[in-house]
Amino acid sequence: MAKTVKTMKALVVYEKGKYVLEENYPVPELKRGEVLIKIEACGVCASDIKNWHGAEGYWGDGTSEPWVKTPFIPGHEFVGEVVEVSEGYEGDVNVGDRVTGEQIVPCGECMFCQTGKYWMCDKADIFGFREHVNGAMAEYMVLPAKTRIYQIPKGLELEKAVLIEPYSCAKHAVDRADISNTDVVVLSGVGTLGLAMVNYARLRNPKTLVAVDMMDDRLEIAKRFGADIVLNPAKCNIEEEIKSLTKGYGCDIYIEATGHPSSVQQGLDSIRKLGRFIEFSVFGQKVSVDWSVIGDGKELDILGSHLGPYCFDVVTDWIADNTIDTDGVVTHTFGLDRWQDAFEQNAKGEGSLKVIIKP
Ligand SMILES: [Zn+2]
Ligand SMILES: [Zn+2]
Repeated sequence: MAKTVKTMKALVVYEKGKYVLEENYPVPELKRGEVLIKIEACGVCASDIKNWHGAEGYWGDGTSEPWVKTPFIPGHEFVGEVVEVSEGYEGDVNVGDRVTGEQIVPCGECMFCQTGKYWMCDKADIFGFREHVNGAMAEYMVLPAKTRIYQIPKGLELEKAVLIEPYSCAKHAVDRADISNTDVVVLSGVGTLGLAMVNYARLRNPKTLVAVDMMDDRLEIAKRFGADIVLNPAKCNIEEEIKSLTKGYGCDIYIEATGHPSSVQQGLDSIRKLGRFIEFSVFGQKVSVDWSVIGDGKELDILGSHLGPYCFDVVTDWIADNTIDTDGVVTHTFGLDRWQDAFEQNAKGEGSLKVIIKP
């Protein structure tokens, strides 16, 4: 198929802290099996902000190789329209389809991919952090041949469609928590992802669902989305509150979704013996805690959660039929020219949840 577009507007990261809005960045020639999409919108993720702020996990500590590979285009929470499908493409999308895709492009060959655990692919090619898997803060984006692409109904509002990726990650975290109807569940951090987790945790029908956040406006939405109790650590002692709810034992499950070290300590203090601690966040700094609480102190199950595998189809259905709530989650929309305002708004957090960029 003839190549239709040569250049595009794109936000390009050249080095740590050097983000440039390019007006005429080349659109690469499609290779065999690739798909080109025209971006409708892209959400700004907390990981984009941590990357922008130069987090060590992405850029290394000066002695190690950076995990990112420059120059790259950020953005992985995308909605777009297929404008070109190359020779040899084996999937089922066609020109004109409205699509999104999972953030990781699995290699298909490593031990994890070969055993169905593709989201932990050893190559870790994640959209928006590396040159060969450029992201969606641009007019166009190339989806490599192994991208897991999903159809989005044409009529689904953009403010809902753009939440499919983050809501999928949230579902996976809640699935990891394996909540039952006798559990007291504490969800620490109700930004976009945490609010989605409130939705999914509610579907699991826990005994009590507690949402914790420093921002009261977010806690109000958490209540609307199904939290039984909301607590602000700026106004009360979380450990005491949780223990008073649980005859002094502590919560059964603690889901950490703030990315702040203090929330990790708060969780280890508030959780009961033999409890389950789910870590979802990406941290901008190292976390120090007394590790002995995990073994000798409480014999905890510590579980991690990464991305949203095997979730996209059902999440799309549930967002579309309002099984899960999205009202009020997208708070700001910026043009790509104002990417910096979008990033700053997201970083500030105050008065905003999901910030999206439209090229
Ligand atoms: Zn993300
Ligand atoms: Zn792999």
